[in-house]
Amino acid sequence: MQLRYTFRVYPTPGQQIELARAFGCARVVFNDGLRLRQQAWEAGEKYISDGALSRRLITEAKLTPERAWLGEVSAVVLQQALADLNTAYRNFFASVTGKRKGRKLAPPRFRSRKDNRQAIRFTKNSRFKVLENGRLRLPKIGDLVVRWSRSLPSEPSSVAIVKDAAGRYYASFVVQTTQDETLPPVGSEVGIDLGLTHFAVMSDGTKIAAPKFLRRAARRLKRLQQALGRTQKGSANRKKAVVKVARAHARVADIRRDWQHKLSTAIIRDNQAVYVEDLCVTGLGRTRLAKSVHDAGWAGFTAMLEYKATRYGRTFGRVDRFFPSTRMCSACGRITEKMALNVRTWDCPCGSHHDRDVNAAKNVLAAGQADNSNDRGAQVRPGLVPAPRGEAVTHPDAACSTRSVEGISVL
Ligand SMILES: [Zn+2]
Repeated sequence: MQLRYTFRVYPTPGQQIELARAFGCARVVFNDGLRLRQQAWEAGEKYISDGALSRRLITEAKLTPERAWLGEVSAVVLQQALADLNTAYRNFFASVTGKRKGRKLAPPRFRSRKDNRQAIRFTKNSRFKVLENGRLRLPKIGDLVVRWSRSLPSEPSSVAIVKDAAGRYYASFVVQTTQDETLPPVGSEVGIDLGLTHFAVMSDGTKIAAPKFLRRAARRLKRLQQALGRTQKGSANRKKAVVKVARAHARVADIRRDWQHKLSTAIIRDNQAVYVEDLCVTGLGRTRLAKSVHDAGWAGFTAMLEYKATRYGRTFGRVDRFFPSTRMCSACGRITEKMALNVRTWDCPCGSHHDRDVNAAKNVLAAGQADNSNDRGAQVRPGLVPAPRGEAVTHPDAACSTRSVEGISVL
């Protein structure tokens, strides 16, 4: 499977200028492509093919005085920008026609210089190279200093250079893993519900709250955002506040990702099968508002569970069919009337006493197991696994190393 390995890089001031130029050119080509396709659509013309778009916006555009400067950056970077656009369109069409499941996707949007994240991608044919001295050589950019926190397991097939909102640069390598990393089988299976008061609640009764250090960082971020709101538009203080918010934001995201990596690794290690409720389905029904506070974190977290399950030979399933998991008794299947958000426990006429969230998680587990044992089972296991950002497990043994994970002492 494909994995993404991300490292901090430290471009020199000169290289930062070259990178800014490359980010800019990629953005222009992306936006040109989007504009052309939008215009064609509005004029009732047919969809411009990927090949025709590339010819017009890269090869031919470089010959015009308005776009001659595209020649100053690697052509691969420009091709990859168009590849992103093509993927965005394909996903959008698949979503419209119903071929792609889940939340409906919006059509691609224009990129802006003010976007929080700027990125370019180099593929193998751009001849990027990791040098003997540990630097990363990029065409028309130079040799970048990389902080190698671990080694790459094999030769990367591509590398993206990303600049985040806090002004930090990263090199993100896509690497194909070949070795069999299947973990020894275990007997337990688990269902996970997105809790109301907890980050996640498991069918075995474990409740996982976001750790204190994460909540503290989130509170600090909120305070900084409020401070930003009080500054005058266009003032120097506002500029300073914007940078502070961006840094705090990046910090919260980092802390959350690290924590989720540890948690997801522990869950995959300890269970043979993991089932989660599908967020899109959750959105259809109950308690949307209350749960939305966790949404951002939950999507990333379930993506981690999914690819780790594939990597380590476990089963992962999203329970994507709509059922009232909260109101259904996991013991007898009876469905009770709607409950207010503040009702934490309830009793079923069958005699069962339920914790609201644990009961929901048990229902998720049962539904996942049912899906997996009938013919839908083939669908439950993911096929292609997207390489997620910030993969933290480097060595297969690392998945078995720590028993205690900060913030989930109950595990
Ligand atoms: Zn019951």
